[in-house]
Amino acid sequence: MRQPLVAGNWKMNGSLASVRELLAGIKAGIDTVKVAEVAVCPPAVYIPEAQAQLAGTAIAWGGQDLSVHDSGAYTGEIAGPMLRDFDCKYVIIGHSERRTYHGESDELVARKFEAARRNGLVPIFCIGETLEERESGVTEEVVARQVDAVIDHCGVEMLGEGVIAYEPVWAIGTGKTATPEQAQEVHAFIRSRIAEKNATVAEGLRILYGGSMKPGNAAELLAKPDIDGGLIGGASLKAEDFLGICTAANG
Ligand code: PEP
Repeated sequence: MRQPLVAGNWKMNGSLASVRELLAGIKAGIDTVKVAEVAVCPPAVYIPEAQAQLAGTAIAWGGQDLSVHDSGAYTGEIAGPMLRDFDCKYVIIGHSERRTYHGESDELVARKFEAARRNGLVPIFCIGETLEERESGVTEEVVARQVDAVIDHCGVEMLGEGVIAYEPVWAIGTGKTATPEQAQEVHAFIRSRIAEKNATVAEGLRILYGGSMKPGNAAELLAKPDIDGGLIGGASLKAEDFLGICTAANG
């Protein structure tokens, strides 16, 4: 049985004051969450604040990206050991915004997956097709290529130590959610693709859905057999909405 994970991706939002308020709000309502594991990924400079407020609670925290290197002359980058210094459990890798705006390739993302595991972090590995790719009927080809890059570089067993987030790019921040059926179809495909390499890994691996998930549509998405939680952008910035999605996982 896979425990659902609901993770908030705060992206480049917030101030120290608003981050404090959001963390306090999530903490105050977390007792309503009975089933899901919950995590938040604030901007890197606010990770110490997350650690200070969340240590000892049921809520985990993580980074939004990491370098493939563990230290050195890489201006502006954040290394895995630095995230570990602040007790991060998770790190998002391969988010479509990084793939698009920073030119991150499948190979680089696979190296980031390895860097995360080398440092004891659980990667939340994002994959997904653009609208153009969906409309040209190559969704499965795209997600297969993205998953295979990690399997080829890290091995399927290491892939199983992470979490996948299927995020159709056309649904991120657009208000357009994939229907539960559309999402389930791709999730089942991803799991079957991994099962070709290792059925046990495929069965145990959590595959989250991401893309305009909200309290109003979370329950029906999370009810699908291969949807094991959510990676939440916009709705994770309001404690009430984020907690609403977390409690939807109670069933
Ligand atoms: C995301 O950026 O990971 C995401 C799913 O964003 P949103 O929920 O805003 O679509």
